[in-house]
Amino acid sequence: MSYDNNNIFAKILRGEIPCKKIYEDQFVLSFHDINPQKKIHALVIPKGKYVDLDDFSQNASPEEMVGLLKGINSVAKKLGISVNTGKGYRALANISEDGGQEVPHLHFHLFGGEKVGKMVSE
Ligand code: AMP
Repeated sequence: MSYDNNNIFAKILRGEIPCKKIYEDQFVLSFHDINPQKKIHALVIPKGKYVDLDDFSQNASPEEMVGLLKGINSVAKKLGISVNTGKGYRALANISEDGGQEVPHLHFHLFGGEKVGKMVSE
């Protein structure tokens, strides 16, 4: 699948749509999910144009890969859910059709602030 420049997260990255920003650096942007599924539900997205985790794994630079992982940790620390600042969380990426991905720009969900329950529901 080629990258759709009009997906909602691309618009957020361009500043065309507002978001409740949590954290930003040269590699990632993080903001609160508009429809939170847990007490804390953050999204972390790379700034590069990657459709999903497979696209990212195959095409991102080593710097972007490290930047995304470090970005997730920075967000978790800032939200007080990392192992250093809190009680932990779940990081999850939905990938394509069977993964239930709705927005075609790679994003990690961070769920926390409470026990997040079983790993897979339904
Ligand atoms: P996924 O199903 O993994 O693609 O998740 C997409 C997520 O994006 C869902 O949890 C939505 O609630 C969230 N979402 C959609 N539009 C927005 C938006 N404008 N701002 C923040 N989160 C959004």
